[in-house]
Amino acid sequence: MNNDTGTLSVLIANNPFLRKKTKIVEKVDLEKVKKLLPVMFEIMYKAGGIGLAAPQVGIGLRFFIIDLMKDNQSEKITIINPEIIEKSEELKSYKEGCLSFPNQYSEIVRPEKVKIKYINLEGQEQEMQTDGLLARCIQHETDHLDGILFVDHISSLKRNIIMRKIIKEQKRHH
Ligand SMILES: [Zn+2]
Repeated sequence: MNNDTGTLSVLIANNPFLRKKTKIVEKVDLEKVKKLLPVMFEIMYKAGGIGLAAPQVGIGLRFFIIDLMKDNQSEKITIINPEIIEKSEELKSYKEGCLSFPNQYSEIVRPEKVKIKYINLEGQEQEMQTDGLLARCIQHETDHLDGILFVDHISSLKRNIIMRKIIKEQKRHH
């Protein structure tokens, strides 16, 4: 391998690994998570994404990274063992994409605000209440940890169209 992202790469839509539920990160796994982070952030930035969940790069652990690059400012967020403990009744629709679905976007309805419980890299329990794009991203990435993909939130008709496009594009590249 001639790049420093090593053997990790983003798994695409129909890869069965994306459907697996991930394992809780135990204290002993934290070192492993810390080692994976620089590579994961690099992959995410290169692909122009704002969120990346561990299973998307073939790691079956319950964590994800986010960097919204708000006002072109980088702010790295790592969320481990997230649990959504509150969701607002207010819903919002937003055009979502996913690094596992290159160039595919769809309007997805989700709660506008969420409160989550998670642990940080030191293994300390944290809580976060958030709305807007960050809340959206957290819900999308938490879904990944449970083997749920954004296309599961749309009609099967729309989902099939997206899946067909992805398969077509993959064939073109290989
Ligand atoms: Zn995604």
